[in-house]
Amino acid sequence: MLLTDKTAVISGAASARGIGRATARLFAEHGARVAILDLDAAGAAQAAAELGEGHIGIGCNVADLASCRQAAEQAIGAFGKIDILINNAGISQPVKTMEITPEDWQRVVDVNMTGVLYLSQAFIPHMRARKQGSIACMSSVSAQRGGGIFGGPHYSAAKAGVLGLAKAMARELGPDGIRVNSVTPGLIQTDITGGKLTPEMKTEILKGIPLNRLGDAIDVARIYLFLASDLSAYVTGAVIDVNGGMLI
Ligand code: NAD
Repeated sequence: MLLTDKTAVISGAASARGIGRATARLFAEHGARVAILDLDAAGAAQAAAELGEGHIGIGCNVADLASCRQAAEQAIGAFGKIDILINNAGISQPVKTMEITPEDWQRVVDVNMTGVLYLSQAFIPHMRARKQGSIACMSSVSAQRGGGIFGGPHYSAAKAGVLGLAKAMARELGPDGIRVNSVTPGLIQTDITGGKLTPEMKTEILKGIPLNRLGDAIDVARIYLFLASDLSAYVTGAVIDVNGGMLI
């Protein structure tokens, strides 16, 4: 039990096969009370109910600062304190550079990168006042290798922005007892990716993955658990790859 008496907020945790949902389950198993924030309010409520008593679901659009502030007020009000924030919500769009419209660009950047800033801003004053907190931010291998199969260039740009933002927040907030880290998953089988891979695509992709399998949501959830827990008490500003060796 790594999170006994801890409280956690996880964004983008409603989707049934998603990384956020797997993280919520794992955190609850480790003793945390979990607030699931998602654009899909009904899904968030259902996901929280499935975790059992003591967990809550809150509708929240991470790309909207007022919505983030409201969600933070609700989560802090319900639990009395928040120890852990997992900035996990994200969207992808598999298009090429010349196909990106101004609206596409804005939407993908807003959710994947600005959302990390807004939701962090909503919780930082609370964490600062308590002189403690762990924030983990979702980036992607797409940020490191310039594109992936399911995210376009705007997705890579937004996820790369998350790495800079998280490091800057880590440097600034360290003296306040707040740690900020990022995760960079490779290809994880979720709703974003699952079902869209043909057997031929999979064979081709596996040639580039030394561990010879695609990732599962739980593989990323376990890294979030490490970053959320006191096991990583001296880790901040770090980027942890979860990609089966894709970048070796
Ligand atoms: P998913 O689609 O299963 O989950 C994403 C969740 O985010 C959904 O529940 C969705 O409703 C929610 N969401 C979308 N827009 C939102 C908004 N504006 N406000 C609040 N919630 C919103 O996808 P996933 O694969 O579990 O992705 C989780 C995160 O991991 C994303 O940030 C994604 O970019 C990132 N990621 C995924 C992979 C992969 O291979 N699946 C790889 C690297 C990074």
